[in-house]
Amino acid sequence: MNVPSRLDETFDALIFDWDGTAVPDRQADASEVRRRVESLCAAGVHIFVVSGTHVANVDGQLRARPSGPGRLQLCCNRGSEVFEVTGSGPSLVYRRAVAAEEDVALDQAAERTIKVLQARGLEATVVSSRLNRRKIDLIPIAEWADPKKADIAALYEAVKSRLAEADIGDLADVIALAADAARTAGLALPRITSDVKHVEIGLTDKSDSARFAAAWLKERGITGQLVLIAGDEFGTIGGVPGSDALMLVCDLERAPAMSVGVEPGGVPPPVAYLGGGPGRFATQLDAQLERRARHRAPQIDTDPRWVVPLPSARVKERVAESLGALSNGWAGTRASREEDGPGTTPLFAVAGVYATDGHLLAGPDWIGLSVAGGHRHQGDRRVLDLRTGVLARFGEGNRTLRSVRFVSAASPDALAFRAEGPPDRLDEGDLLRPPLQERFEHEVNDGIWVGRTSNGDSEIAVAARDLVTTGSEKRVVERLAAWAAGTTSGATAEEAQQRLARLDALGFDALLSEHRHAWAARWADAAVGIEGGPDALADELAARYSVFHLLCAASDTGDAAVGARGLTGEAYNGHVFWDADVFVLPALAAISPQAARAMLEYRIRRLPAARAIAEARGFDGARFPWESAADGSDVTPRVVQGRHGEPIPIATGTHEEHIVADVAWAADRYATWTGDTAFLAGRPGRDLVVEAARYWASRIRLDPGGRGHLYGVMGPDEYHEVVDDNAYTNVMARWNLRRGAELLAVSRRNSASTEAARWRDLAERLVDGWNPDLGIYEQFAGYFELEPLLVSQVAQPPVAIDVLLGAERVRGSQLIKQADVLMLHHLLPTEVVDGSLGACLAFYEPRTAHGSSLSPAISAALLARAGQLDRALELFRLAARLDLDDLTGTTASGLHLATMGGVWQALAYGFLGLEAQGEVLALEPHLPGAWSALSMRLRFRGQRLQVRAEHDQITIGCDRPLAVRVAARPPQNCDPPGATFDVLMPQATYGRRP
Ligand code: BGC
Repeated sequence: MNVPSRLDETFDALIFDWDGTAVPDRQADASEVRRRVESLCAAGVHIFVVSGTHVANVDGQLRARPSGPGRLQLCCNRGSEVFEVTGSGPSLVYRRAVAAEEDVALDQAAERTIKVLQARGLEATVVSSRLNRRKIDLIPIAEWADPKKADIAALYEAVKSRLAEADIGDLADVIALAADAARTAGLALPRITSDVKHVEIGLTDKSDSARFAAAWLKERGITGQLVLIAGDEFGTIGGVPGSDALMLVCDLERAPAMSVGVEPGGVPPPVAYLGGGPGRFATQLDAQLERRARHRAPQIDTDPRWVVPLPSARVKERVAESLGALSNGWAGTRASREEDGPGTTPLFAVAGVYATDGHLLAGPDWIGLSVAGGHRHQGDRRVLDLRTGVLARFGEGNRTLRSVRFVSAASPDALAFRAEGPPDRLDEGDLLRPPLQERFEHEVNDGIWVGRTSNGDSEIAVAARDLVTTGSEKRVVERLAAWAAGTTSGATAEEAQQRLARLDALGFDALLSEHRHAWAARWADAAVGIEGGPDALADELAARYSVFHLLCAASDTGDAAVGARGLTGEAYNGHVFWDADVFVLPALAAISPQAARAMLEYRIRRLPAARAIAEARGFDGARFPWESAADGSDVTPRVVQGRHGEPIPIATGTHEEHIVADVAWAADRYATWTGDTAFLAGRPGRDLVVEAARYWASRIRLDPGGRGHLYGVMGPDEYHEVVDDNAYTNVMARWNLRRGAELLAVSRRNSASTEAARWRDLAERLVDGWNPDLGIYEQFAGYFELEPLLVSQVAQPPVAIDVLLGAERVRGSQLIKQADVLMLHHLLPTEVVDGSLGACLAFYEPRTAHGSSLSPAISAALLARAGQLDRALELFRLAARLDLDDLTGTTASGLHLATMGGVWQALAYGFLGLEAQGEVLALEPHLPGAWSALSMRLRFRGQRLQVRAEHDQITIGCDRPLAVRVAARPPQNCDPPGATFDVLMPQATYGRRP
């Protein structure tokens, strides 16, 4: 028996027709189907039985009483009803309500059809008036009273000759005639179906059942190839597509379909023809049960809009390890191959767990497998499925190693993979010995491997168990692992083992299904869509890739330490920079607010350390360190080694103080965007802003003329190391003082109002570099006197121009590493001079080398707002592909999370022009010509929004009334479920709004 390969997979859901597919007829004994259905549900498979008849018929015959975890649903009455069946029987979950006029129209349509047929000499009768449909018998004669599905070809011949006698060409003509009658009767979208004997006029059909199933499954992360559709009449008969073809809806695109019917007219291309009737169908169910019993590696839905291929070239191995890294915000794993060892850089790390030297502590590697037959197998492909957060490996031929891996988005401590290959490649005796185990203390007890790494007070333990199933052709290794991190050695290992026991009780399938479900829920708040030609689809995938890693970056409770490279690599030692507060957090505030809150909790818990740093330097308030790790002390390296081993002093820790205001800004952005105003009213949240303001108040120096200065700082542009009055730092500090004063003003204490008044006064006095003659800000005192070099005179950005020209030369020039003054227009559009964006862009953009990965996305956002869309798109693509194409050659040591946050911000603040104005959401879309639409799902002030912009209109879906301001017009109301607004673009301006 030759089974087409796509059916030879493990499916997570089955959607099948009842009569003719699962059972030969309505009287047949279905006890074997029942047994199989109940077993499949017990194995976690979701089942949808699709039938034209009513529930009592199907349930009366099937009588399955599954107890889960797979769910059984009966989609009855030709798409009009759905019943969920549990141990206590079926209960209604959905019914298509019928309006009184629709009911009347159905009757009229059926009568009219019969009249027209009779006029032609064909005797037909209305045999039943079921819910939402009318059934007309085209062959009401005893011989064909109850035809079997297997006799469909003969039935068709009989019907055809009756039609011929009435001078009617074929079934298709009867359908057309019925459709006409239905429309005349007032049904806008009649559903006309035929099983050859009957023609039915209805409000619903099997496509509604399929769509219901598709939507239900999608909510659980089960799409396309994870679903198998089965029926017995897909092929066209008499010019009419078989009724099961209606199940091939576009929401189930890529789902394999099979027919076990007679199919006299053949089957349409996507359907695999098996034939053999219900008997053959039963063998397919058994094959699924067997695959489940053997723990075969599950598949992924290789939807090109959601799947990112990892590079396979040997030289790109470490890049692939970063690109395919998986994390749930708590713990993360690089995408090392199962058998990899030398030359690769595997990493398992836990967020916030560092060694005493401030490096992210590498935990025990849980991925390794001993694989015989050499290193890697040519032809293996690896892809990251963004929709479900699964890394999959597969390839042609039976020698390949196939695997599926995930870091659970639902159970924070769960890590899992299944790998399968020929038994001689996976040596059974060797499985629990990951090749890299020498790096970790470990022991194996009762089949449980426990690895441990510790340093100072930090310890990470991983407990893992393998379940090995060997068949004649395949050996499957299923590994479940649990991690625990803590400070006491014995306890951490014990904790990991206890967690493993709990995960083991749940099992791999249940863990995978809750993981997929969790990812579906994440995307429901965060999905990005870009429409247009192939380039737009490439942009969409790259944008989704960024959002995926943002969603991986932070846990949604506790205190989330989000390092510059997250948990995807060891660059920057896992340290937390302003990257977290200014680049990642604004995105998460909109797509995963709890995660943004956890990131702020990281800062809150390290306020005492920041206060201590300020005090040690002789200042008040809190000074957040440029780089921080576990305890919030300053871990910025003071010296690094150059390419020739020479020591290079690092000044950022001492001078890059804008981070203090950046943290305050992040707290405020979170509160404004999410509407969590209690956060800033409450002590710890408020202190992030107030203590930062207090720092600036003590840090500012007044000159004899009474003007305030911040001497000896470093702005975001790190090519100019120690400068006075960096515009970015000063304006951020000014904003911080004013915002702090507002928060202090709430207090009734006298001392508070005196302090607030002082802050306001200092803010007023602080210079900001604004040059009214030139209409731009000067990046720092004396910047305009530097050599006026442009990047294009030297190289094409992005470029590390300091390496190219030498640090000295660059320091003496106007060349800058990254957006600096322009960051102000991005973060604080209302703090900069109204209308100054255009001139600042024109001046600074040609001087920006984009030598930092943080920079291009911010420029893209601003250029989009300024209406310079070609250049905006160019820089957006640079940012979105920075890691995917390893554009800076640094992806091997980890993904650039700030860039990914920037990509989201460029889409949201730039191309959509979103801005939170109190409770009003402002939008001013500017779409590049290459995109026909941009849509984003997000949360704003506690409600879920869908925003979709086309060139001339914007559509907003909301679940509560929302005030929106489109293209700077006065606010309008948008009531649920949403509204569409015209976008007549004024010439872009940017700055204070009316
Ligand atoms: C950038 C900083 C950034 C750091 C970590 C540096 O190259 O100039 O702005 O915070 O990398 O990503």
